[in-house]
Amino acid sequence: MEAYVLSSTSPQTPGRVYLVGAGPGDPGLLTLRGRECLAEADLILYDGLVNPDLLRHTRAEAVRTCRSEGPNGLRVPQADINRQLIEAATAGRTVVRLKGGDPFVFGRGTEEAAALREAGIPFEVVPGITAATAAAVYTGISLTHREMSSAVAFVTGHEDPLRAEQRLGREALANFPGTLVYYMGLNRLKAIAESLISAGKSPHTPAMVVCRATTPAQKTVIGPLANIATLAQQAALHAPSLLMIGDVVNLRETAAWFEHRPLFGLNIGITRPEDQADDAISLCYRLGAQPVALPTIEILPPESWSDVDVALNQLDQYQWLVFTSMNGVHGLLDRLWQTGGDARRIQQAKLAVIGPSTAAALEKYGLRADLIPAEFRAEALARKLKPAARGQRVLWARASRGRDVLPTELNAAGATVDQVVVYRNQDVTAFDASVLRKLEAGDLDWIGLSSPSIARNLPRLLTPAARKQIGSRTRLASISPVTTAAAQEAGLPIAAEAASYTWPGIFAAIESCRP
Ligand code: SAH
Repeated sequence: MEAYVLSSTSPQTPGRVYLVGAGPGDPGLLTLRGRECLAEADLILYDGLVNPDLLRHTRAEAVRTCRSEGPNGLRVPQADINRQLIEAATAGRTVVRLKGGDPFVFGRGTEEAAALREAGIPFEVVPGITAATAAAVYTGISLTHREMSSAVAFVTGHEDPLRAEQRLGREALANFPGTLVYYMGLNRLKAIAESLISAGKSPHTPAMVVCRATTPAQKTVIGPLANIATLAQQAALHAPSLLMIGDVVNLRETAAWFEHRPLFGLNIGITRPEDQADDAISLCYRLGAQPVALPTIEILPPESWSDVDVALNQLDQYQWLVFTSMNGVHGLLDRLWQTGGDARRIQQAKLAVIGPSTAAALEKYGLRADLIPAEFRAEALARKLKPAARGQRVLWARASRGRDVLPTELNAAGATVDQVVVYRNQDVTAFDASVLRKLEAGDLDWIGLSSPSIARNLPRLLTPAARKQIGSRTRLASISPVTTAAAQEAGLPIAAEAASYTWPGIFAAIESCRP
């Protein structure tokens, strides 16, 4: 077997560029190779169509190169992007150029590749799922249904008048024996439809405009080709959007599935600290809702590890190790690993956790929880642990802040509880400005509150305009009765409460409020 050096960031080694297709919007539609490139990169240049949630797969510096939407939209010229790619790679960096859909479908990816080749920069191109095929699937249409369409054409709606063959192609497109899909045509719908009809296409041909396909904001309008521009205008559709023309459009009703997801179209604030929100964010997308990151607390390492290290060196003295959060598990066990130890140090100690997510965190270290209470809260954990812990030494890997139910109850029951702070939970001082604007505009349908401290923290982070939306346009869903009580004490009305004290529980509670 040959040995390969997979990656190196030392400036002596030549850099490289990956041109990666980000897919159409749903962050689940990135390829595995694309994700590998993101993980390896140390600079990401991503374009305006790319869903920023994909940046969860990288720790690299990420720069948005192009904004086509919004009033202060700033467009970066292509030559500047090419120059940035070349400069960064020449300096030895591994660069991902992340582009919406597929980099070579109306994406100027070949121009970037040509510039890299000319500059002698090594590059790789990773295909992506292009908007047309993804939008078709997410609206329930087969572009090549065998009884209706034997071909499909991807057409630019941005006709360049200097290109003679496009003008000549009008009749060819009108007579094309299959489905037509126009990219970049939202502002030219009327012109496109008129041109096809004047070249002989039936005005009754079924047509569909789909905007923001594959995202929770996906919207569609269907009608005969002759009316489609007016219908799209009435529905106030936004870019990016595609125009699909052909009989296959009529299939939509039978195969539509995406819009039937239980939380489709909702915007849900996820209050978990940023670095632990991945599971909640992924689940939110899978349920059809748009997650909006709204961390109120950030997680930091403890100010000092010395108490933790002392405890880790005498783990064999404890009969029970207790974890009341995933952070507690990571804090203690990562430190054990970093200081040269591993799970064998735990030996005979039994493991108690507060709930299934904490148990799942232990599993990643090959450890099985011995005790999980039926109800995922400190009181229930203490109650279940008490008989087993009498006369025993217990180590609790805890946060810098939190309730003291556990040591109080266990000490009273005759156990000796040592507490070590394995992480700090610190209040965030302000919400991101763009998120705050969304809140003020009432664009959030729900906010999930996943702990009492998050609930207590929320009011402090709201502007008066944002506070006004809470309880009216924006409803609150709480993870547990303890969190509900904390929210109510802070003057926040709770509209839904989870039956199981997890993020899936919060989403289920929101679902049960849908009409
Ligand atoms: N390389 C991209 C296309 C870039 S051109 C790809 O392969 O998909 C930009 C055009 O793509 C937009 O004007 C729009 O027509 C289309 N598009 C991209 N994402 C879209 C989406 N989520 N929904 C609808 N159309 C989309």
